[in-house]
Amino acid sequence: MSKKVLITPKSFGTYKAKAYPLLQEQGYEIIENTLGRTMSEQDILDVAAADVVGIIVGVDPLPASVLEKCKDLKAVSKYGVGMDNIDLEKAKDLGIKVKNAVGTNNISVAEQAIALMFSISRNIPSIAAGVKKGGWDRVIGMEVTGKKLGLLGGGQIGKEVAKRARGLMMEVTIYDPYFNDDSFLKEYGINRCFDFNELLGNSDILSLHVPVTPETKGIMSKDAFARMKPSALLINTSRGELVDEDALYEALINKKIAGAAQDVFSCEPPSKDEKLLQVDNFILTPHIGAFTREAVENMVMVSTKNLLEMLA
Ligand code: NAD
Repeated sequence: MSKKVLITPKSFGTYKAKAYPLLQEQGYEIIENTLGRTMSEQDILDVAAADVVGIIVGVDPLPASVLEKCKDLKAVSKYGVGMDNIDLEKAKDLGIKVKNAVGTNNISVAEQAIALMFSISRNIPSIAAGVKKGGWDRVIGMEVTGKKLGLLGGGQIGKEVAKRARGLMMEVTIYDPYFNDDSFLKEYGINRCFDFNELLGNSDILSLHVPVTPETKGIMSKDAFARMKPSALLINTSRGELVDEDALYEALINKKIAGAAQDVFSCEPPSKDEKLLQVDNFILTPHIGAFTREAVENMVMVSTKNLLEMLA
């Protein structure tokens, strides 16, 4: 039987000297993504349909139609956490094991959320770009100390953001109906709220830390923005699909909220004429939340070990 594994994430190569021997010792032949970009469904089928038994996958698509055609596939190891690019139901039906690399990048993403919070509250990207063009224009900022930070989602990343925000002397409130760690709230002096509309109305800064589900897709809707303070800032390091981007554009232009900073977008990269990119108080970084040396090394090693365990 063939023992080929496909590795799709571009950043995997940075630490391949540590990971490849683990796979090769077990007799696996490695197929790399040599395209220099995220693989398409067809790219994956071209190399994996015939005889690949395991895939370490980044954000590349693994819908039912691809999983069904990869006839030898036994295991998918997610390089990271968000599994929205994998049809989990179909994988289960087909007996394909799937596991994500929990706890590998939560600190990096939390730090990115905090970085975006300061970037937008002090308008750093736009004014620093102005200085490089010969300008010296100042835009008045907002302190975060004492401000109310609302967190949608109190999982691995939300909790790390919460801890850091407490260190910045912010008042932190988590809205997460499935949250069940009261000792965490007590230890860090964090509030909990059970009404998302209340969180929207009270937060000076709202940061999103939920997966995309039927419940959360488009949760930042026109109605949600209308409930926020005009001085409020939105931070999204989770997924673009959580935000109705037309509604966000309207909210920024009509000053329903004061700014938004995202690390994710519905279409990555966005098209060049994307209207949000023309808005000064909108920041977008190219999905770098988990792109630190530390998180990449963790993701490489954990996703490799997870794949080996699932295939054993
Ligand atoms: P997690 O599973 O640990 O936490 C998610 C939390 O959301 C859970 O506590 C869950 O109870 C809560 N939740 C689910 N549905 C909810 C709802 N309707 N309302 C409120 N809360 C709800 O996940 P995580 O590791 O913290 O990741 C959070 C998000 O960050 C994911 O979308 C993931 O894809 C994204 N992410 C982004 C990057 C990046 O590079 N920017 C990297 C890693 C993860």
